[in-house]
Amino acid sequence: MTTLLNGDLPAGAEAQALHLERLNALWKLSIQCGLDDRERIRTMLDMARRVLALDLVVLGQFDTTYHARHVSDGLAVLPEGAELPPDAVPCLTVMQSGCKRFIADISKTPYADPFATQMGLRAYAGFPVHAGDDASRVLAFLSRVPGEPSVIDEAYMALIADWLGNALHQSAQTELLQRIALTDMLTGLPNRRAAEERLQKERARTPRDGHGFAVALVDLDHFKLVNDRYGHAVGDELLKTVAKRFEAGLREGDWVARWGGEEFLFVLHGSTADEAGGIIGRLANHARATPVRTQVGEIPLSFSAGVGAFDPRANDIGGLLEEVDHALYRAKSSGRDRVCLAAHTLGT
Ligand code: GH3
Ligand code: MG
Ligand code: MG
Repeated sequence: MTTLLNGDLPAGAEAQALHLERLNALWKLSIQCGLDDRERIRTMLDMARRVLALDLVVLGQFDTTYHARHVSDGLAVLPEGAELPPDAVPCLTVMQSGCKRFIADISKTPYADPFATQMGLRAYAGFPVHAGDDASRVLAFLSRVPGEPSVIDEAYMALIADWLGNALHQSAQTELLQRIALTDMLTGLPNRRAAEERLQKERARTPRDGHGFAVALVDLDHFKLVNDRYGHAVGDELLKTVAKRFEAGLREGDWVARWGGEEFLFVLHGSTADEAGGIIGRLANHARATPVRTQVGEIPLSFSAGVGAFDPRANDIGGLLEEVDHALYRAKSSGRDRVCLAAHTLGT
């Protein structure tokens, strides 16, 4: 945090009033509802450019190159998303040192091209942006008027860099938590919650008169015996391998989730129930023919499956899952190691 935020206000009543006014605007923006991260950052950069009477404010990021990720550009010289060679931008030393940097006149530095010659920019101020441990970003303020920022402007720039770092860190954390909440920790597949969300999305984007998708519920046969015979750790190993195999056997756009303990749900696009039954049948043949290699040796494996097609006219995911579950039950009760089609799709 900047010293100014810790109560060390700039000298002079006028400067203090200006700083407080700016802090107030910053605070209002940070609690404004209805903005996504991208819009909030963009609005923040626009506000900074206006308040500081500058020409260009850029939140850039380094990996193998420099990306101008978010841009507020009064001159229309730097498009958002533009890439530049890292050593062509003064932000590189800011990122590497973790320290702010001011250049009163860019035209007298190695960065003259393109900033001064093509963009007409002269003054530069760069601040490191720390999003947790991620220090790959730099906030840059540029102006056509040469010179260094005043103390009060510098404080405001530093404050915005801090704010952006915190906001980016927070959204990275939120994204991570969401990913964890939707991922099965053992297999890395989407978990049941994720699968239910995805199914609703599949439903919403299937046109009423178009081709839908097929759903398969796959349940490993006698899996309890694996645990009983070899222990839970070997059972886990087997589940991981099976999940990888299932994923590897999918076509582009199709997906598989861990629906429960040793149950997996598949979504196969543009397939009738018959076609989907064929695809799952081939996976079953492969499973039967290829025992799973584990720390205790090879373990044979088979599974049973229920398969059904989504009917866009009925538009009922719950009903489809129920039917597919019944089909799975039939596959189990008629001897296991087989694929059964849901009742409504039989004969189609
Ligand atoms: P069926 O052919 O009727 O499906 O028999 P099954 O033994 O596969 O079915 P059952 O439902 O009786 O048992 C499922 C077993 O899956 C019991 C449970 O301990 C095991 N299981 C569920 N989740 C996990 C897990 O994460 N790891 C391991 N190792 N086992 C699990
Ligand atoms: Mg089961
Ligand atoms: Mg089972």
